[in-house]
Amino acid sequence: MPDTSMSFRLSARQEEFRQTAEKFARDELRAVAVECESTGAPVSAATRRRMGELGFLGVNIPEEYGGLGVGKVDALIVLEELAKISPASAFPVFESNCGPTQTILYAAPEWLKKKVLPQVCSGDYMVSVAMSEPDTGTAMTDLTTRAERKGDKLVINGTKRWCSGAGYSEGYVLYCRLEDKPGGAGVGAVFFEKDTPGVSFGRPERFMGVHGFHNAEIYLDNVEIPVENIIVPAGGVSDLMQTFNMERLGNATCSLGIAASALEVALEYTQERTQFGKPLVDFQAVQLRLAEMKVDVDATRLLIHRAAVEAGDGLPSMMDTSVAKCFANEAVRRVVANGMQVMGACGYSSDYPMEQKVRDSWVWGIGGGHIDMQKTNIASDLVGRRFSQR
Ligand SMILES: Cc1cc2nc3c(=O)[nH]c(=O)nc-3n(C[C@H](O)[C@H](O)[C@H](O)COP(=O)(O)OP(=O)(O)OC[C@H]3O[C@@H](n4cnc5c(N)ncnc54)[C@H](O)[C@@H]3O)c2cc1C
Repeated sequence: MPDTSMSFRLSARQEEFRQTAEKFARDELRAVAVECESTGAPVSAATRRRMGELGFLGVNIPEEYGGLGVGKVDALIVLEELAKISPASAFPVFESNCGPTQTILYAAPEWLKKKVLPQVCSGDYMVSVAMSEPDTGTAMTDLTTRAERKGDKLVINGTKRWCSGAGYSEGYVLYCRLEDKPGGAGVGAVFFEKDTPGVSFGRPERFMGVHGFHNAEIYLDNVEIPVENIIVPAGGVSDLMQTFNMERLGNATCSLGIAASALEVALEYTQERTQFGKPLVDFQAVQLRLAEMKVDVDATRLLIHRAAVEAGDGLPSMMDTSVAKCFANEAVRRVVANGMQVMGACGYSSDYPMEQKVRDSWVWGIGGGHIDMQKTNIASDLVGRRFSQR
């Protein structure tokens, strides 16, 4: 009797869902991706609503909040298929199934979930996260944006940097200092909306890749919000970081989508292009590169799905997430480098798809906790204690 207690296959439902996402990506998202890449603007409201109609924006959001209420693996399968076209065109799905929307789902008060989640699922609303500041990147708990309590209001002042979707998203999960205590003890998160008086946005940043993420600074000048908008109170950084593990799996899945599609592109090209009278794929050195790409893609997917399955109805563990993200972020850089090499000048030309994949691949190992920080997390989990970075 075969042992069926452990399976590496998608279920029939997951496979059907994957095919729906693949078809949408192939038929409808390509033109959107070209637009994002050329203008730097995020996907339009119409595309978001289309994603909503297909259920892609609430795959792992419970039905009571307008989602499909199916598992994390399903959510990541959809994201992978869309990220194969480009991570920028998949951005709303990233933000909803993995990003700050998940912080709202797992940590926000009920009224906020009811207000935001159904609108996210329908595509009428997007949520971004504002953590980074000009002087605060990896050392997030040094942030200085302050939300000061005045009666039943919070008054926010500060500057946020690099926020993806800044000025486009309707809602923002803001990491800020809620109490006058040092480091993480004073840090929590609140929610504000784009059109709140005192909120303004900087010019779009120019990045090497992921055009269409629309990153910009956010200026918060005496912004007043009700105290009910607190998502996580001061001292709740570890709760925030737990929800952020889902964002990290999304980050890893974008790496996977780029890598998997780079392999598809390289496979097709090396079978069509001939040199010395035979297809490129007939050269053993090319075969080795393709095989290395396949090993990286499969290993990445398995690590991501392991983290998602092990999480069950809860949030993924730091160890599983860090292992998956760390591997995915390093693997995608290897995969696109191999892909570009086997395509020669066409790999380097912006008239062919590999060039954008190379540019889009690098950032995942910088954002969402860089690769070396993930390695520190892994070592920390191995020995059972946190290492002070100070
Ligand atoms: C495309 C893009 C999208 C982004 N989107 C968002 C967003 O939506 N919201 C948001 O808040 N931020 C966003 N960011 C910012 C991102 O989260 C930060 O870039 C990230 O946290 C790293 O911070 P930093 O760039 O300031 O690097 P730094 O913290 O200055 O670190 C630079 C390098 O130093 C090394 N280093 C630093 N600290 C350590 C350490 N303790 N141990 C070992 N090595 C270390 C690492 O090599 C690291 O890459 C985005 C960035 C990019 C590029």
